[in-house]
Amino acid sequence: MLERSVTRGNTPFWLILLAAVIALFLGTRFMTLLSSSAPHNTIDRGIEYIVETEAITSAEAALQLPKGVWRAQQTESLLFLQPERAVWLKFPLQNLSLMEQWLLEIYNPALNNVDIWFFEGETLLSNYRTGDRFAFRTRALATEQFLFPVPASTQNNVTVLLRVDGNGQYKVPIRLWKQSNYLVHGTEQSLIIGLFLGFMFAMTLSNFFFFIFSRSVNFLWYCGYALSVALLLMSLLGLGFKYLWPNSTWMQNHSTAIFTSSSLFFAILFMRQLLNITERFPKVDWGLKLLALSFLTAIALGGLQDNYDIVQFFLVSIIVVMLILFGLGMWLRGQGVQISSLYFMAWITLSATVTMASLGQLGVLRLELTTPYLLMLGATIETILLALLLAQNFSQQSKELLRARETALDQEKQITAAKEEVIATQLQANEELEYKVQERTLELQVALRELADSNRELEEKNTMDALTGIRNRRYFDKKYLAEARRSRREQTSLAVAMIDIDHFKSVNDEYGHIVGDECLKNIAGVIQSFLKRPSDEVCRYGGEEFVILMPNTSVDGAQTILEKIRAHIAQTPLVYSAGELPATISVGYSSKVISSDDDQHLLLDAADKALYQSKNDGRNRITFQEPLAQG
Ligand code: GH3
Ligand code: MG
Ligand code: MG
Repeated sequence: MLERSVTRGNTPFWLILLAAVIALFLGTRFMTLLSSSAPHNTIDRGIEYIVETEAITSAEAALQLPKGVWRAQQTESLLFLQPERAVWLKFPLQNLSLMEQWLLEIYNPALNNVDIWFFEGETLLSNYRTGDRFAFRTRALATEQFLFPVPASTQNNVTVLLRVDGNGQYKVPIRLWKQSNYLVHGTEQSLIIGLFLGFMFAMTLSNFFFFIFSRSVNFLWYCGYALSVALLLMSLLGLGFKYLWPNSTWMQNHSTAIFTSSSLFFAILFMRQLLNITERFPKVDWGLKLLALSFLTAIALGGLQDNYDIVQFFLVSIIVVMLILFGLGMWLRGQGVQISSLYFMAWITLSATVTMASLGQLGVLRLELTTPYLLMLGATIETILLALLLAQNFSQQSKELLRARETALDQEKQITAAKEEVIATQLQANEELEYKVQERTLELQVALRELADSNRELEEKNTMDALTGIRNRRYFDKKYLAEARRSRREQTSLAVAMIDIDHFKSVNDEYGHIVGDECLKNIAGVIQSFLKRPSDEVCRYGGEEFVILMPNTSVDGAQTILEKIRAHIAQTPLVYSAGELPATISVGYSSKVISSDDDQHLLLDAADKALYQSKNDGRNRITFQEPLAQG
């Protein structure tokens, strides 16, 4: 928090002081140059004065007062401290060139009442009644200062009688002008005041625009400050009365208090924001808020109190606030907060001009520049320095904001990078996982295929006869069903033959079951070798019986093959491990185009019966039987 500073380094204090003195000196020189070219006579000799008494009821009465009653003026410019009553002044105007028009100026626009009489001897030449308490149109000449034309006198011996009254402590500077010189002076004065007001209003406007676009409330406070100072000076110079509130004597009598209060009000808010007191020192912040609030009430009070001691109020409150703000800056500096040297310079120059103006006002100092000019100078330097300070502060805040944004951006980038890394890792992990899944799937597929293969093998084994290596009864049953359907569908004849080895019991009995098994295997091989068509199939039907399926085969075709098998077995002795063995088979067969479910049974039945027929007929033969419907 404390690192947030108004500037970078703490400039040595003597350097700040030196810069302030140089700025003031240059400013004073510049203003003096602009304002001192037109010659005028300051009337400071021969003025007599008297505080108003009951006896003085009119100008004539005042004029006829005995000489000893009047008092001679001491200082070069009359100063009145807290008079209870109005003051009368008397002075002669002598040796005025008749070729010129002369003007008498009372250089204090804050005077409440100004009554002036021009006498030649006892004869009244002209008189005017005006002042702060009168509307602007009562002015003899429409100028912001009280200006009166000196009537032409043939004797060239005019006595001026003046009755003034003001608030509290006031001066009555009187100046005599040749009209031609006053014209020049007016131009010069207009230039200086115009420059100053133009500058202040430009500051007001530009800061207002800054506020509109940046939404930084500090620009608004500064805008309020610049405007208040401009209006305050306008009111001190009598310009406010001339241009802004010509008909409001109330305003003319309260404007100084109001604009002083508002200047200080805005100055406090501005400083509070600029030094970031709210965040740094909340307790001090409360004090500043209270002070600001008191000036806000003073704005209202300025309107209430009629006989307000404007000048004193003005000077005292400015000095108090300046001391507070200056002290606050010093204290913050002591606390280690870096405060811009511009801040101190601003307050030093303003307090210097205000002090000088006050001393001038009190008659302690004799100054080349009048109070308003001095204040203008101070306000201008102050305004420039504060504008610089504001710009500096704003740019620094912008930089800080930029830096913060950059940091945030960096962090965002880091987060994004981290996220990307996580995503990449996830992707890689996903890829690996996918690869593994693929690998597993492949393995699974292989395993499944192997399983299917072994299932198929198992299935095949299930349909095989272990002993002979041909299909078994189970297979035959299925196959027979399928072929019967095909025959029915395609209307082709299906041939079936049942084969039984003759007297096989005795082979077993004589040679043993091992030899019997060998013979069984042998005969199965022989039968198989005679079946050429892929659709023909021999199966072990049970024991030493075989069955042959011959789809799409006529009776003749079947007979031919069966006869060949029978003959071959009959002629070729069975070879086994221990020697040779003669064998014969009996065959019964049938053939039919299947056309009903019954036909399936009939066909097998017929073959079976034919086999019995062969056995009965003496064995070693083939017998055909037509499948006959049971009846
Ligand atoms: P037939 O000429 O009337 O057929 O006389 P057979 O002795 O062959 O009588 P049958 O067909 O009834 O005989 C069946 C015999 O076949 C019984 C058994 O000794 C023999 N046999 C059946 N199955 C097997 C087998 O798997 N192995 C062996 N070695 N012999 C078997
Ligand atoms: Mg048998
Ligand atoms: Mg047999």
